[in-house]
Amino acid sequence: METHLAGWLKGTADGLEAESILRKCVHCGFCTATCPTYQLLGDELDGPRGRIYLMKQVVEGHEPGTSTQAHLDRCLTCRNCESTCPSGVDYGHLLDIGRRLVEQRVSRPLGQRLLRFALREVLTRRWLFDPAMRIGQWVRPVLPPVLRDKVPARRPAGAWPRREHPRKVLILNGCTQPAMMPGIDAATARVLDRVGVQVVVERRSGCCGAIRHHLGDTGGALEQARRNVDAWWPHLERGTEAIVINASGCGAMVKDYAHLLRDDSRYAGRAQRIVEATKDLAEWLPAQLADSIDALRAQLGARDADRGERVAFHPPCTLQHGQRIRGEVERLLDALGVARLAVAESHLCCGSAGTYSVLQPALALQLRDRKLASLQAGAPDLILSANIGCLAHLQAGTATPVRHWIEWLDQAMDLR
Ligand code: SF4
Ligand code: SF4
Repeated sequence: METHLAGWLKGTADGLEAESILRKCVHCGFCTATCPTYQLLGDELDGPRGRIYLMKQVVEGHEPGTSTQAHLDRCLTCRNCESTCPSGVDYGHLLDIGRRLVEQRVSRPLGQRLLRFALREVLTRRWLFDPAMRIGQWVRPVLPPVLRDKVPARRPAGAWPRREHPRKVLILNGCTQPAMMPGIDAATARVLDRVGVQVVVERRSGCCGAIRHHLGDTGGALEQARRNVDAWWPHLERGTEAIVINASGCGAMVKDYAHLLRDDSRYAGRAQRIVEATKDLAEWLPAQLADSIDALRAQLGARDADRGERVAFHPPCTLQHGQRIRGEVERLLDALGVARLAVAESHLCCGSAGTYSVLQPALALQLRDRKLASLQAGAPDLILSANIGCLAHLQAGTATPVRHWIEWLDQAMDLR
């Protein structure tokens, strides 16, 4: 698509990147068919092709208004359109630019500004979010449903392993997950301990930056990325094998550090090495389990003769579209002999999408209901997924337990 950049954007990093992404789009519209917001709203401007057209207008110098902002806000950043696009259009990075430019030009009403400020500042600070979540969990039974949906019931995390191993990996010292579902990190540490790998949490690291990035606070997100690079770097220098991430939303963000810091001469090289060392748990763990799969399958077979557990898996968008990791968890479950149910529309977003379920609750609930209908069509005993946001969002809409797959695996390995 030929683009005539506005004078103020010519020669800038955003301008060059937007132009090169737009050049690839041939406006065929294949992406529209798989876009969740287009499917719900039926408006071309609430699909990827329409949004690309709106962003092209912005970079060409047309002044955006609240309507353009609303169409971009309604995008889930699920990147399903990238998976569908035959021309390899890098929609996600174009959206980053488009949202940033629109944010600078269109002011938001006070209520929206306050809500976005609160999300940005509270969710990404553990000293604020941890006690707030703890209090929320104490008073959960008396919370109004709209708030109760955002506060998962507290489940004990279980003990962290104490053994040390020569093989070490880092996990995130993340923002919301340890407070909402501390069992995910503990289960990760226990499973890795069983295969002879020690999990290390570097306390100087913190939120991956995704929340700020997707709320338009690029400067704040880059600061968090640089802080994490600084915190993790000495570990990589000492031989830590990988940064293994058990929340696919955070994994997608950390894998983007090299792109985000490419123009920072102090950090570009280190960020590239961090990205090379970063693995989603779903892509890293199966190889570590290769020697124990048969024994584990036999162990589970004996257990399931009594329980006959049926499982449905939801692959988060940040795993299947953002990181392009497809089928790894499903193959692992199948190799373990799990009764995994087929799930229709598994490419579609569940509506969680970071802070989307707070900022766009009506669309998020429609997508959640549709996703749960697909996941529960085969009457599973358990729903598994791979990202904290999806887990909490889905669990709020069903009585069927929703767990991270590593929690399920931890429990399975513990039954002897
Ligand atoms: S983003 Fe890809 S699929 Fe969508 S209109 Fe452009 S070229 Fe076609
Ligand atoms: S990222 Fe998702 S919601 Fe946004 S345009 Fe692409 S498919 Fe649609």
